[in-house]
Amino acid sequence: MWTKTHLLDLGTEIAAFLLAATCAGCDEPGTLLCGRCRQALQPDPQRLATPQGLPVTAALSFEGVAAQCIRRLKGKGETLLARPLGAALASVLNSTESASRWIVPVPTSRSAFRRRGYRVPDLLIRRANAEPQRLLSVVGGTSDQRGLGARARATNVSGAMRVRRAGEGTEVVIVDDVVTTGATFDEATRALTAAGFHVSAAVALAATPRRDGFG
Ligand SMILES: [Zn+2]
Repeated sequence: MWTKTHLLDLGTEIAAFLLAATCAGCDEPGTLLCGRCRQALQPDPQRLATPQGLPVTAALSFEGVAAQCIRRLKGKGETLLARPLGAALASVLNSTESASRWIVPVPTSRSAFRRRGYRVPDLLIRRANAEPQRLLSVVGGTSDQRGLGARARATNVSGAMRVRRAGEGTEVVIVDDVVTTGATFDEATRALTAAGFHVSAAVALAATPRRDGFG
């Protein structure tokens, strides 16, 4: 039973929490995300393709305020940021029209799940008001993709995913938080296609800016 005292206590705690908070985008104190940085999370759709040619739409470019916010969500447990970031994801998810498709998150490795206590793509999908279908899982261990070039990334994730059930032609859209070369999307597509799903598109919250061409 909640009493007025409880609610006042809760109010004080939230106030203390906000006072200790800094904007995820620019470190301005007293807010989780200031108005200017919230504005910087307006979708700016980036269209790309994976090495295998799957079309990818990303809501944001992984730089500046967007990169800061995604790092705080992924690395510092600031799950409240999933709401504004999920709103950006929703805009591109809703623009990939197709009727009875399922939204399939790229799987989170066990070690990443243990470290964070949540799955970033799944959380973003929920905050985008969609239902994640956890069809994919990671087989064994893959090394961290960071620091690997495009070819090494593709080799690293090849054969790394497995699908839990038969697809029977169900149309799916794959979702990840950040797309770099697209090798992860290609591996997800391989596993889903082998299980009988039809992958129509891939959507990411953000794409790392290209330096020497995508892939
Ligand atoms: Zn800010």
